[in-house]
Amino acid sequence: MAEALLSVRSLVKHYGAVQASDRFCLEVARGELHALIGPNGAGKTTALNQLSGELKPDSGEIYFDGQDITPWPVHRRTRMGLARSYQITSIFDQLTVKENLALAIQAHNGHSFRFWRKAGDDPATRREIGPALERVGLEERATIPAVSLSHGEKRQLEVGMALVGRPKLLLLDEPYAGMGPGGAVELTKLIRRLKDHVSILLVEHDMGAVFSLADRISVLVYGRTIASGTPETIRADPAVREAYLGDETPAKEGTDA
Ligand code: ATP
Repeated sequence: MAEALLSVRSLVKHYGAVQASDRFCLEVARGELHALIGPNGAGKTTALNQLSGELKPDSGEIYFDGQDITPWPVHRRTRMGLARSYQITSIFDQLTVKENLALAIQAHNGHSFRFWRKAGDDPATRREIGPALERVGLEERATIPAVSLSHGEKRQLEVGMALVGRPKLLLLDEPYAGMGPGGAVELTKLIRRLKDHVSILLVEHDMGAVFSLADRISVLVYGRTIASGTPETIRADPAVREAYLGDETPAKEGTDA
């Protein structure tokens, strides 16, 4: 088997008496969308925080793109292409879509000292804006102030800003939370588009979205991965059904966009 893009080996994390990660293991292959699911309190956020570098594991290792990144701080992981969607850059409401993307590009290229200039002034930034807009389907909205975007479009912009750094793996933390049905359909389309550009680890409670998007799914219960496999395998796994999914498992095709 080809080397995994992300290989998480036996992470342990305690909060006092609570063991939030209990020899947590995970393999994300290059090019795949891997979903991490589990009941409330299973340790998904704790796992993500350790992957992004915000939280230090008590023990265990994280390999990313062939390197042991376990001791690395957040910014070094981000630079290497491991990006969490929400923390990249927040949207500036008064700036246009294009200007927001330009700021993300400039920040990523290390030109944050130029923030006082009009965003998008330098040629390198201008070159990157077109592809950045296209990746998230916001070409038509380029000159609209971010404040006027719909909730769904704001999410698109956010992900577009995350993609600006050309990450190798995007960590998406419950992107469907608080979305209405219309927004959710749009978001599913967007994530499908993103899949062509980047590997994705998706933590999500919306089982319709997970089963329709994921190439593989890992199930976390009490801090441990109890199963990992294709949606079909996971749907049929008796241990998963007993521990978590039960009757929640969506019908064969899941929710589709
Ligand atoms: P949810 O799906 O509800 O967001 P989760 O799967 O993300 O849950 P975590 O938030 O990682 O789970 O929590 C795992 C366990 O660790 C839970 O028992 C939680 O109460 C505990 N926990 C999380 N953060 C802390 C903390 N800062 N201090 C103490 N206990 C914590």
